Amino acid sequence: MPDSTAQLSFEFFPPRSAEQQAVFEQARDRLAALSPAYMSVTFGAGGSTRDRTRETVFGIADATGIEAAPHISCMAESDDDIVKLLDDYQAHDIKRLVVLRGDRPSGSGAGVFPYAVDLVRFVRERYGDTFDIEVACYPEHHPESRTPNDDLQHFRAKVAAGADGAITQYFFNAESYFRFVEEVRSLDVAIPIVPGIMPITNYTGLARFSQMCGAEIPLWIAKRLKAWDEAGDRESIASFGEEVVTELCRRLLDGGAPGLHFYTLNRARATLAVCRNLGLDRPTEAAVGS
Ligand code: FAD
Repeated sequence: MPDSTAQLSFEFFPPRSAEQQAVFEQARDRLAALSPAYMSVTFGAGGSTRDRTRETVFGIADATGIEAAPHISCMAESDDDIVKLLDDYQAHDIKRLVVLRGDRPSGSGAGVFPYAVDLVRFVRERYGDTFDIEVACYPEHHPESRTPNDDLQHFRAKVAAGADGAITQYFFNAESYFRFVEEVRSLDVAIPIVPGIMPITNYTGLARFSQMCGAEIPLWIAKRLKAWDEAGDRESIASFGEEVVTELCRRLLDGGAPGLHFYTLNRARATLAVCRNLGLDRPTEAAVGS
């Protein structure tokens, strides 16, 4: 059984409608019962969700008492815009940020800063130690990086600029994570590297998204999911997905991963099932909801 003190964190996106808000709140409250270290909220491509990210973050802290961490990216309108947002987070006692370059919405130009490293540096220079800074990293390498070694060096630069921790892009091959950790340790990068975990609940969306972000779905997984998807057999996808992701998490924790960061997609069921299988469902007095 993996170490039950492993740190959990859950990522959400800001809901876009009243209906999505209700679904999000239910997931948030069910996952809050697992006492995560924090819950994070994404910053939509091109900064499109800035206000909704902010409201969702404050809502998490108010409703659950659990630490909430906004994602922030270079894709803002101006550095004034970023400063206003960060001032507001500081005033609301936000302690942790997930700092990213962000993805460009199609057809739009560059962000306020060219790379995440520049935003990490900006936050550190202007706000000192106000915020713990998490950054992204890529065990299977970022799709735009020229070579794997370039990507490692760019990640190392983010750490040198002031990152306190890193969350990986999701992957289904545990070896890629162990290899990545070994390589960055050899570059004297000592910060915790928490694997990002994508629960498997469907095939088409996962395949499309994986293609975009450069995450590999191994064939032995993809072919099964595709066949069940074509047969409309959602139950088999869910139970196989639960088994595969549980096994992946078990290997990661047994191999020394400091925690797990779940991309919940605002749904609790698949994440809860994996955490229960791992013995990481640990209700506390702070927990709310069902
Ligand atoms: P960077 O670290 O800037 O790297 C981007 C690319 O540029 C890499 O290929 C890197 O090797 C290269 N690079 C870096 N520095 C240099 C340099 N000096 N010279 C040349 N090349 C360089 N996106 C969102 O829009 N909103 C979110 O909320 C969001 N949350 C995320 C959370 C996690 C945990 C992860 C893993 C990703 C998230 N993303 C989000 C996606 C992320 O924005 C994209 O993966 C994006 O393409 C890269 O972001 P980054 O911060 O890793 O960029």
